[in-house]
Amino acid sequence: MTKEIHKCECKVCCTQSDPAVMQQHQQMNLLLSRLNEPQRRWYVGSFSQQPGQPTDGELSRITGLDEKTIRRGRRELGTELAELAAERQRQAGGGRPRAEKKTPRSK
Ligand SMILES: [Zn+2]
Repeated sequence: MTKEIHKCECKVCCTQSDPAVMQQHQQMNLLLSRLNEPQRRWYVGSFSQQPGQPTDGELSRITGLDEKTIRRGRRELGTELAELAAERQRQAGGGRPRAEKKTPRSK
């Protein structure tokens, strides 16, 4: 993987008006560069739902992800990821085991 770290294109970083914000965006992009594709959109999707966060358009400039991708991440967080989590994401968590629903597999 030789993916480059996205350079934030938001107006704060372009004008270098707020070092704290610039650092936050840099670190966010550093983190994103270490994640795989679904993880990136889930992360940004989750981030976008926190109070006081930038719009999707702004986040798209910050992270380099498509607005559509961000929306998709958010949607997946609300639905599919909950089902994926138990099987695919277990190793990432490392906390206490989460309660698994005994729903029959549909796929
Ligand atoms: Zn920025």
